[in-house]
Amino acid sequence: MTQQITEKLRHTKGFVFDMDGTLILGDKKNNNMNTLPGAADFINLLKDKGIPYVVMTNGTARSPKDYVKVLSDAGIPMDNNTMMTPSSVAADYLVKQGYKRIMVLGCPGVWEPLADLGLEVVLSSIDNPGPVDAVYIGWYREFGFKDIENAWIAVRDGAGLYTASDVPFFATANGPGIGTSCALAAALKPLTGKDAVVLGKPSRYAIEAAARHLGLAVNELAVVGDDADLEVPMAKDNGALSIYVHTGTGGPNAFDERDESTWPEISVANVGALMALYQDGE
Ligand SMILES: [Mg+2]
Repeated sequence: MTQQITEKLRHTKGFVFDMDGTLILGDKKNNNMNTLPGAADFINLLKDKGIPYVVMTNGTARSPKDYVKVLSDAGIPMDNNTMMTPSSVAADYLVKQGYKRIMVLGCPGVWEPLADLGLEVVLSSIDNPGPVDAVYIGWYREFGFKDIENAWIAVRDGAGLYTASDVPFFATANGPGIGTSCALAAALKPLTGKDAVVLGKPSRYAIEAAARHLGLAVNELAVVGDDADLEVPMAKDNGALSIYVHTGTGGPNAFDERDESTWPEISVANVGALMALYQDGE
């Protein structure tokens, strides 16, 4: 690693952390969280230094405030304004589009951030939901045929199609778990002819929302994550510092077969090793 990159790390104005596989690991239903090495210590260090941070998961199984509790219970220092999900990004984005009535394929954690910003949430599971401006897909293990049918009708009649994530798997302590929004968006593709627009990572909407949340520019941020297809490209494509940790989905060899242009600027075993690098030379 070059001196220039370690300097860039030390001068980072704000951090965006991934959750699963970076700070904690849970089971397949996203329960029973274990803290990963150095995660709590590094965030405590940032707090002591007054460096702002946000944890941005691609999970929508819970609302941001519920994830704050999960992380706090796992020993990660969190305040209510330190957590974002794709639904935080979606709420911000859908309001900006001037949309009012949104059909949601998702559990309460998916739609609560939308309702909190004043959007009218219509559940895809109800009979005759009527016209909507957009369809938004998130964590939804309980879906059935009616959800697919109502979403298809809404998109056929002109609603935009959005998803929290199009990533097939997320890291758990028992191996990969299926991302339900990816599966549902894939089910709707041949019916609607449309690719759902991704609002979570690695979209630019996600990192722009994180930057706005922290009151910083995107190029003042460092993004820390375990997924070679999510945090690293989101950081690199938008001018933030890209930091890859080996504790999750991809492990230490995720970039071995990839073109050098896709490599992270910093690749470390875990957040603890990142903290050592950050403090090195202090
Ligand atoms: Mg992850």
